[in-house]
Amino acid sequence: MATVSLENLKKSFGKTDVIHGVDIEIEDGEFIVIVGPSGCGKSTLLRMVAGLETVTSGEVRIGGTRVNEVEPMDRDIAMVFQNYALYPHMSVFDNMAYGLKIAKVPRAEIEARVQTAARMLQLEEYLKRRPRELSGGQRQRVAMGRAIVRKPAVFLFDEPLSNLDAKLRVQMRLEIKALQRELGVTSLYVTHDQVEAMTLADRMIVMHDGVADQVGAPLEVYANPQTAFVAGFIGSPP
Ligand code: ADP
Ligand code: MG
Repeated sequence: MATVSLENLKKSFGKTDVIHGVDIEIEDGEFIVIVGPSGCGKSTLLRMVAGLETVTSGEVRIGGTRVNEVEPMDRDIAMVFQNYALYPHMSVFDNMAYGLKIAKVPRAEIEARVQTAARMLQLEEYLKRRPRELSGGQRQRVAMGRAIVRKPAVFLFDEPLSNLDAKLRVQMRLEIKALQRELGVTSLYVTHDQVEAMTLADRMIVMHDGVADQVGAPLEVYANPQTAFVAGFIGSPP
């Protein structure tokens, strides 16, 4: 497990400033939700932590180590995306095992880790299937399984539930919460859904036009919004 710190983190695309200087210290095992409307910079922020986007200025530290120039594969992280990004021609088992094979983890260890994750995610009976033979919720579980088997120090989630229908979204939210309790891995979770943020977060970062307007526990933010934007966004119905 690891701490994550963002220090005056900024991002520009050409002349357009997208992230204006975000500071946050994330504790070991904390579940942080970055919430805000579409286009406010959530994915860009997460992608900088993942190493998928270069940092314009400022620092990203994972476990105290500056990782600005460290390649995504060499950061101790695993990311879960909105579109699952599963390999359609591979079985569920092989999808979950893929990253471990690349990392040359011994076969018996791969087998054990995939079985453990499959049990946690109720996927044991589906390991031989292809992604197209699964429901949306099951596909999203496979995407999470692929992250879990790698035993990363940090999980990054970018709107992992937004392709699911409303009922499934609520169910998966509860499952993610339960997994978090079980695994206790430091997590950064991006969503535009304030209810999801309120339910999942130890602390939430409310973003608005590339600025972290407020950082705090959900009830604290809800009770004491520090800007008019936060009051409107967190107080408004989903
Ligand atoms: P969110 O995830 O909150 O919806 P994004 O981080 O995707 O927001 O985008 C934030 C802003 O940065 C948007 O205005 C978007 O158009 C812009 N942006 C994102 N990626 C790029 C890129 N590769 N090139 C130029 N502009 C980008
Ligand atoms: Mg996004």
